[in-house]
Amino acid sequence: MKGFPIEKATNLRTPFYYYDTELLRRTLQAIRKEMETHPDYRLHYAVKANANPRILEIIRKEGFGADCVSGGEIEACIRAGFSGDSIVFAGVGKSDWEIELGIEKNIAFFNVESIPELEVINQLAATRQKKARVAFRINPNVGAHTHANITTGLAENKFGIDMGDMEKVIGIAAGMEHVEPVGLHFHIGSQILEMDDFKALCLRINELQDRLEKQGITVKNINVGGGLGIDYSCPDEVPVPDFSSYFRTYAEHLQLRPGQLLHFELGRAVVGQCGSLITKVLYVKQTTHKQFAIVDAGMTDLIRPALYGACHRIENLSNKDAEETYDIVGPICESSDVFAKAYRLPRCRRNDLLALRSAGAYGEIMAMQYNCRPLPPAYFTEDFA
Ligand SMILES: *Cc1c(COP(=O)(O)O)cnc(C)c1O
Repeated sequence: MKGFPIEKATNLRTPFYYYDTELLRRTLQAIRKEMETHPDYRLHYAVKANANPRILEIIRKEGFGADCVSGGEIEACIRAGFSGDSIVFAGVGKSDWEIELGIEKNIAFFNVESIPELEVINQLAATRQKKARVAFRINPNVGAHTHANITTGLAENKFGIDMGDMEKVIGIAAGMEHVEPVGLHFHIGSQILEMDDFKALCLRINELQDRLEKQGITVKNINVGGGLGIDYSCPDEVPVPDFSSYFRTYAEHLQLRPGQLLHFELGRAVVGQCGSLITKVLYVKQTTHKQFAIVDAGMTDLIRPALYGACHRIENLSNKDAEETYDIVGPICESSDVFAKAYRLPRCRRNDLLALRSAGAYGEIMAMQYNCRPLPPAYFTEDFA
């Protein structure tokens, strides 16, 4: 891994997350450059990918907004200095206190997922004599070529309002005194690398906008969610995702109406490549069938392999000897606590440091304390300066 301060890191207790701040900034600048050519585009970073306060602060300072899916995330963003009106709030199950917090902080809009939710927002805004801005999360019934657990835009998924109910819901909202309908929201899934999936979403949105226009309805904001994937197998060759193709897909295929703003909620593509989980080899264990490298990080620190069968590139930072084949496993009392099977790595010795790459998104934030393990700390490039 380029630039990793291995000497300075050797005495630190492992496992820990390491964030390459320079790469994060480079990624944000690549997005900003795209935004400059499209002044009607807005990025709300999807906080659920990584809510480390230092990461949030860097993203906020680059001038981006935030996409939250819980009250806790809204609080984390406010603490990191995001203004209420740069925050959008999605989620199928928003609690009353979370809605109240959103109203109190004057967030840009709620992405509303059902009529009962809309009614509660109206009620809670009424008790505060306020008007809550809402966008309707429409389920576009567009599939995405990604893992089944992370597609969200199919009719069978729990997310959003059926396309067929769109006009009805907008009609209901228009009759409510304390909500202001301001947009449509979509999100089709995560780790999407086929631009055609985003194109399919664009075509669907065009169709829905045509339908609304026939009824004389226009909305100020279109929010297309996130989902752009990263290259997990070649983090050094493709450290910054192909934002040009991504934004160009929308520019070419989505027909924005005059004055409309187009909002994006990228998470993984913003923070995925800048983070690595650093772990130490505890034991190399030979059985009749296999050789195991037992490391001190487990699924409690990085759950993606156990949860989604995700593959992270693994590197031996301490040794460049000839490669051998290992199952790389953690110490947790679960058979799914496996990072990789039959993986080729330079010979592993006790105390070698390994890096699990591309762990900046859905890594640290999903860490848990099962087995009473401490949560992994995080270090940034400048901590080693
Ligand atoms: C998870 C999520 C995102 C971000 O997804 P990424 O794949 O990380 O870009 C954006 N919007 C909503 C509503 C989400 O739930």
